[in-house]
Amino acid sequence: MNAAEFRKRGKHMVDYIADYLEQIETRQVFPDVEPGYLRPLIPDAAPEEGEAYEDIINDVERVIMPGVTHWHSPYFFAYFPTGNSYPAMLADMLCGAIGCIGFSWASSPACTELETVMLDWLGKMVGLPEQFLAGCKGEGGGVIQGTASEATLMALLAARMKVTKRLKSENPRLTEAEILSRMVAYSSDQAHSSVERAGLISGVRMKKIPSNGKFEARGQALKDALQEDKANGLIPVFFCATLGTTASCSFDNLMELGPICNAENIWMHVDAAYAGSAFICPEFRYLMKGVEFADSFNFNPHKWLLVNFDCSAFWVKKRSDLIGAFKMDPVYLQYDQQESGLVTDYRHWQIPLGRRFRSLKLWFVFRMYGVKGLQEHIRKHIRLANEFLDYVKQDERFEICAQVILGLVCFRLKGSNEWNKTLLQKINNSKKIHLVPCCLGSTFVLRFAICARTVESSHIKFAWKHIEQLATELLSTEGGKQ
Ligand SMILES: *Cc1c(COP(=O)(O)O)cnc(C)c1O
Repeated sequence: MNAAEFRKRGKHMVDYIADYLEQIETRQVFPDVEPGYLRPLIPDAAPEEGEAYEDIINDVERVIMPGVTHWHSPYFFAYFPTGNSYPAMLADMLCGAIGCIGFSWASSPACTELETVMLDWLGKMVGLPEQFLAGCKGEGGGVIQGTASEATLMALLAARMKVTKRLKSENPRLTEAEILSRMVAYSSDQAHSSVERAGLISGVRMKKIPSNGKFEARGQALKDALQEDKANGLIPVFFCATLGTTASCSFDNLMELGPICNAENIWMHVDAAYAGSAFICPEFRYLMKGVEFADSFNFNPHKWLLVNFDCSAFWVKKRSDLIGAFKMDPVYLQYDQQESGLVTDYRHWQIPLGRRFRSLKLWFVFRMYGVKGLQEHIRKHIRLANEFLDYVKQDERFEICAQVILGLVCFRLKGSNEWNKTLLQKINNSKKIHLVPCCLGSTFVLRFAICARTVESSHIKFAWKHIEQLATELLSTEGGKQ
């Protein structure tokens, strides 16, 4: 394909994308395919000779679309939202075109510098304390990671390294293996599975402290765990607090947990993957009270801030903790301006070497929506969650299972887990809307998350009527059996 053909195909692709998104409601939100559906639809091996573009684009509707779960359908209420907007997609095209690999300042100065400034903009937008910003003289700063999972892992690895260095300097006879074998990290029992996984990957023992009846981690639970573990000779190094848990969008109490972590030299990382976007609205910042005690903070603009995946924003108060932990400087990555003290080499802030120019997506989205436009998006979603909440509350066959704070409603039929599993099956088999469940304690719960950028009251009403009708069907056939 040459530039002339690219111009033509590119315009066509933009039309295809606009049509897809404009008419997404007419597509079934969840596909009908069975595992293995795709292989028989295409050849066993790549073609020897190049093919015509028309043949490829025609295969998108034949091969791909039948197997797509339409995350941007206004009938999609599963998981948490994933961001999608036209400015972000345009920026992504440009990112692909520049196609630089921004591992060091010199490898593409704009890639590094825009990222640093965008993370400062974003930090200010959500009201992060000054210490997390890079500014011109700050010790903190932000970086774009691929995912919240990577941000948690980076924070844990940095904490591990920091404690190892400190203990070795206090007692040079200690080996790293001895120190590691005694380390312990914590999260609440509501933390995302990626936190436990960070423990497995880093080799640091990870313990879950019990959350309270509102699914929040409180200070006393951490104190109890610390007391017991220290008495057993363990070394606490890390606590991952969650703001907006995945199951029920509950919030750990940073005002209690933070001071304990600070006093005990425990790195406090805050995982606000979903909820963090809401903090651009001042009225939700009370939910992040105590963030000033954190060592690192992360949320995903690719979840709720209209930025397409991947874009996870991660800030540290002391960037030296991160950079110092994994520094490697082979000759082929060195350059003249490196010693000026003004440059950032983002390869030290992440696990891979290579990185894309993802800050373009932030820049385009922030400028085209403005803070006000983004606030409207968040507020609309929360308003819609409350509309759904009101429907559920008016039907006494149902109960609400967790406080509705942002855009997620946890609800269930009053009755057995079996009933609720059957109801969810009916909902997802009919494929008019899509939901996923969660477990709160031993209770099976349905999660209704406001997801699509284009979802409106009419879709919420439709979804509720549909759920109500399936519940009536279920109760008329199963009602006698309970
Ligand atoms: C979604 C979510 C994650 C995982 O996000 P990735 O960016 O996919 O790794 C982690 N923590 C919480 C609280 C989440 O809701």
